[in-house]
Amino acid sequence: MTTTTDLVSYEEALASYDPVMGLEVHVELGTKTKMFCGCSTALGQDANAQTCPTCLGLPGSLPVVNATGVESAIKIGLALNCEIAEWCRFARKNYFYPDMPKNFQTSQYDEPIAFNGYLDVQLEDGETFRVEIERAHMEEDTGKSTHVGGATGRIHGASHSLLDYNRAGIPLIEIVTKPIEGAGERAPEVARAYVRELREVIRALGVSEARMEMGQMRCDVNLSLRPNGTEKFGTRSETKNVNSLRSVERAARFEIQRHAAVLQSGGLIVQETRHFHEDTGSTTSGRVKEEAEDYRYFPEPDLVPVAPSREWVEEIRSALPELPLARRNRLLAEWGISAVDMQSITNAGALDLIVATMDAGADAASARKWWMGELARAANESGKALDELAITPAQVARVTALVSKGDLNDKLARQVIEGVLAGEGTPDEVVDKRGLKVVSDEGALTAAVEEAIAGNPGVADKIRGGKVAAAGALVGAVMKATRGQADAARVKELILQKLGVSEG
Ligand code: ADP
Ligand code: MG
Ligand code: ZN
Repeated sequence: MTTTTDLVSYEEALASYDPVMGLEVHVELGTKTKMFCGCSTALGQDANAQTCPTCLGLPGSLPVVNATGVESAIKIGLALNCEIAEWCRFARKNYFYPDMPKNFQTSQYDEPIAFNGYLDVQLEDGETFRVEIERAHMEEDTGKSTHVGGATGRIHGASHSLLDYNRAGIPLIEIVTKPIEGAGERAPEVARAYVRELREVIRALGVSEARMEMGQMRCDVNLSLRPNGTEKFGTRSETKNVNSLRSVERAARFEIQRHAAVLQSGGLIVQETRHFHEDTGSTTSGRVKEEAEDYRYFPEPDLVPVAPSREWVEEIRSALPELPLARRNRLLAEWGISAVDMQSITNAGALDLIVATMDAGADAASARKWWMGELARAANESGKALDELAITPAQVARVTALVSKGDLNDKLARQVIEGVLAGEGTPDEVVDKRGLKVVSDEGALTAAVEEAIAGNPGVADKIRGGKVAAAGALVGAVMKATRGQADAARVKELILQKLGVSEG
């Protein structure tokens, strides 16, 4: 793409225009079988090994609804504070696409299973923003095309295309927000925070792993601008299939700057889909948007309506797990930390790891300290996520246990962690192999203290004269002599004792 897009600066755009957003998120459910047939959803199988007459759309085949898929949809609806339909149907969304063998997608149209909800999301500063949910409906995924022979992997220039229908029919839940107004300059941040919170909710419910990098969760970002102080929505663009949190934020930001440039120069925004490019952070035009009537929606005649009984819905509601925001608020209160601290813990992906470390016996403060300190640094340096580091919460808990027993001090503990991360074994094995143990043998410590006093007579005199703060220099000398393996507090006690001074 060689055309460059005119942009105005973000600040300038916001000075004149007010952004309105709509976010459509597709989540692939983690059910064992597809939405309307018994084919497996397992990944990594041979192309088209997981297909049958139903998901290939062969004549005469009949779909059957996956009950777990419906239950997952209800769970999501309830977690998003939605009403659950007493009765709803599937609909056929008709269009031709080679990776969709039936020539229609089984979806829901005017009768979604869940509607009218909201999700509270937290911004960087700990503030909460309420995003209203229009609907959550059930549908199915398409197959996958691979274009072969071209330079770009796109259909243009390809010699032929390969089709794999293993993904065709995997259950999807599409969650659509109402227009998000009032976010102002924070609109891109709200978009990101919403998708992140939604991902956490989906994971907490256990209905999908919601891994965006694997396409299990993807977001369409609708955005329009209206002149500040006006009510009527502008024309929107729809940036499709954005697949990381960062990209969601960047896509919204870019579109704000692009729309503003078009509007300011007196142009009109075309209602169209757009593609987001990770490398440049920009969007380019896709296709002009179809209207709903182009799809000739009609109720799916081969499936019975879905009419979840109120008893079933209440049963599902009462079995919902604690949801992420409630859980964060509870832990924040229990640990006595601020909303901003909690925000950085969640941003770092450390919350579950900290909790697991506590479950393995560590106290909250130590668990936080190691994950947000030493381990966050190690993750950063190696470009990994915290949960990809070669250390388990139980191992971190073991290190904290060795510290509280007095076997390790912080400095040694860091070396133990470094050894575990480097694959040298468990914390105990690293301690043994590297010979890392606090010197707690009083005889050895006393000898080292006496040596330090003898070697620094000037400092010793100052301390004797009442300058207790000068003891730091002697502690340092002892730590050096013991290669950092002494308990610094105990060393200080011994020094003062030897010099006949009492602390404070
Ligand atoms: P479609 O399926 O055609 O994309 P939907 O109505 O399902 O349309 O979804 C559009 C999304 O965009 C919804 O989240 C909706 O709230 C939002 N939206 C609708 N109109 C606008 C607009 N003018 N500006 C920004 N967002 C909009
Ligand atoms: Mg859409
Ligand atoms: Zn099938």
